[in-house]
Amino acid sequence: VVIQDLVITPVAFHDPPLLNVWGTHEPLALRVIVQLVTDDGVVGLGEAPGGSALLARLLAVREHLVGMDVFALGRIESVVHHALGPHTGLGDRLATFAPIEVACLDAQGRLLDRPVSDLLGGAVRERVDFAAYLFYKWSHHPDPGATGSGPSDGEPDAWGAALDPDGIVAQARLLVDRYGFGSLKLKGGVYAPDIEIDTIAALRDAFPDHPLRLDPNGAWTVETSIDAARRLSGTLEYLEDPTLGIEGMSAVAAATDIPLATNMCVVGFDDLPAAVRQDAVAIVLGDHHAWGGMRRVVELGRLCRTWNLGLSMHSNSHLGISLAAMTHLAAVTPTLDYACDTHYPWNSGDDIIVGGPLPIEGGSVAVPTGAGLGVELDEERLHVLHEQYLSLGGGERDDTGYRRRIEPGFDPAVPRW
Ligand SMILES: [Mg+2]
Repeated sequence: VVIQDLVITPVAFHDPPLLNVWGTHEPLALRVIVQLVTDDGVVGLGEAPGGSALLARLLAVREHLVGMDVFALGRIESVVHHALGPHTGLGDRLATFAPIEVACLDAQGRLLDRPVSDLLGGAVRERVDFAAYLFYKWSHHPDPGATGSGPSDGEPDAWGAALDPDGIVAQARLLVDRYGFGSLKLKGGVYAPDIEIDTIAALRDAFPDHPLRLDPNGAWTVETSIDAARRLSGTLEYLEDPTLGIEGMSAVAAATDIPLATNMCVVGFDDLPAAVRQDAVAIVLGDHHAWGGMRRVVELGRLCRTWNLGLSMHSNSHLGISLAAMTHLAAVTPTLDYACDTHYPWNSGDDIIVGGPLPIEGGSVAVPTGAGLGVELDEERLHVLHEQYLSLGGGERDDTGYRRRIEPGFDPAVPRW
């Protein structure tokens, strides 16, 4: 069974005004949907982060894959690397291959009538736990009219504001009530450490049994991180990227008993030796979109076990194809025993899979048992989201530029505190 075509569709979907160290999420978030068409008529699905660079790379490799055996993943990967050439960084080549690998695995599963988890060695769990991903958040987008829909200016969206500890606790309550999440992750790096530490304390009081995580995205100096870690001791399951770089994380790790996690200083296999040598992190956050596909993250799990590192999962704003892939991947990775990150509740209202969003119940997602990824693409919804993308005239994610429309002096530089 050979690849006949790769249909690559950029999409844009609604995203609330979530705050992070770089700025604020814009009204529309970007993704790319890959449909890999085989000569058997079977179509495999993949989903990748948006933005013109990855889109251009996917379009550039497309013709090179036509005629290739859909089961020849090793050769397909090498063709992708070769087509992009050595002037394209390894991380960019891996990010290009990732959605193609997922689409191939989806097609293989459909051809064999087996779920993707079976192709990766078989699920070791029937459900995968996810964490509630908490964000400081504006009550509404300042100019939703620019993108056609959303609440009118001044009217809070369905989530409301979360600009202080009480707001985050209310948001956590809503997410826990609605989805049953058993772990809470706070996106930090937004306010001064005192406020974020107070927020964690408020979450601890309100949810005494929920594991808590804080991710300041490298916003803190080593000194600030050590001081904050001292004050956070005993409250966190892990502290994610308090400071930038393996050196800095190593200095923080030596000064705290809180496990440190990262998706910023260990972002590929090349980063592992130094991180292990310097004892910089206790937990690596894998992400098949960034690490070069699902099979590579399975390999990462084995390496993490070798070095006694934990494995958790990173997320970006995404739709249901990615959630299905993340769920299959976590299901087959025995060492991935932390609740995975997901932005899905923030974006699932705009999803493109048939039957609506994949349900999150009891804080977990059932591993799909249908053929392939176990989700079907809603072509009409895909068309709507592609039109939304076209209405933007292309574009890149620009959290900083968006924040500056409200706070002209906003400076995204880190470390900030
Ligand atoms: Mg992170």
